[in-house]
Amino acid sequence: MKIIFFDTKSYDKESFTKELVNYPDIEVKFLKTELTPFTAELAHGYDAVCAFVSADISNDTIEVLNLCGVKLILLRCAGFNNVDLDTAKRFGIRVLRVPSYSPEAVAEHAMALALAVNRRLHKAYVRVRENDFSLNGLMGFNFYQKTAGIVGTGKIGAAMARICRGFGMKILAYDVFQNPDLKDFVTYVTLDELLAQSDLISLHCPLMDNTYHLINHDTIQKMKDGVLLVNTSRGALVKTDDLIEGIRARKFSGVGLDVYEEEGPNVYENRSDEILEHSVTARLLSFPNVMITSHQAFFTEEALAAIAKTTLENAKIFERGEETPNEVK
Ligand code: NAD
Repeated sequence: MKIIFFDTKSYDKESFTKELVNYPDIEVKFLKTELTPFTAELAHGYDAVCAFVSADISNDTIEVLNLCGVKLILLRCAGFNNVDLDTAKRFGIRVLRVPSYSPEAVAEHAMALALAVNRRLHKAYVRVRENDFSLNGLMGFNFYQKTAGIVGTGKIGAAMARICRGFGMKILAYDVFQNPDLKDFVTYVTLDELLAQSDLISLHCPLMDNTYHLINHDTIQKMKDGVLLVNTSRGALVKTDDLIEGIRARKFSGVGLDVYEEEGPNVYENRSDEILEHSVTARLLSFPNVMITSHQAFFTEEALAAIAKTTLENAKIFERGEETPNEVK
């Protein structure tokens, strides 16, 4: 089987090259260029394309891929909102993804953000580099015996709940389904109760119509004063303008974001030479109690190894003509 990789970063090449040792009959070509309707013809002569969630796998791209003879789209990510599934189906092109790679990677990053912003490590690091050893403005609060509120207790939320338990926190959760694995140490409550009682709120539910702008003016009003909010799930769970209003009203002791509404053009790009004219991100970063990372919560060795393994296993499953729950239909 021949697979062509689009938008290959050095770390993708490294993790896939390691795993390919176990798949001697798979031949790959790594390209740096992104998959778009204009670059899709590079797939000529390949059985499969491998792409990330940022690729443009729209109708136009898939039409070209079909003309090139491609029969399989391998997504090396969980998200598939960038794929025109109807067109893929029309051409009989199968789409396989990696639904889960390392929940702990994301949960550990959520806790890292919570701790860093709570103790103002982003400020302290820069301060000490400038020989400023003062402590003003760096005070945080103990997590021990405080209340963590986890919104969404699937794979990542459950991992976050286990981490919070390790910190000696009381754990409340809100989900449309209760996770039986957590029954010994998590108390399920309504969203309003979670908002009212939590010192740390961490978002781990998916972005859907009913979770869009889940955190907005009204829900922020229901939170405790001095709450710490962390979002490693999807940017649009939080209405940014209302978050900024809440920060200005001193509602939050800290806000840690790995995802935010306008992250689209920024993710994994170096834009340091650009003048960002309409940047809400810059507005958020002007606050001393906000810390932002660029969608890196998943980014650990273990997660990348798992992504490579499942992607190549997906290719083999396709070759054998078998069914898999990793297929997006
Ligand atoms: P999951 O499917 O295992 O869990 C999601 C949970 O959310 C489920 O328990 C579900 O019942 C719950 N849920 C659904 N609707 C809800 C609602 N209205 N209110 C509250 N809970 C609701 O998913 P997961 O693997 O734990 O991933 C969670 C999210 O993390 C993903 O949707 C994705 O957006 C995000 N994610 C981020 C990164 C990153 O690098 N920042 C990486 C992977 C995943």
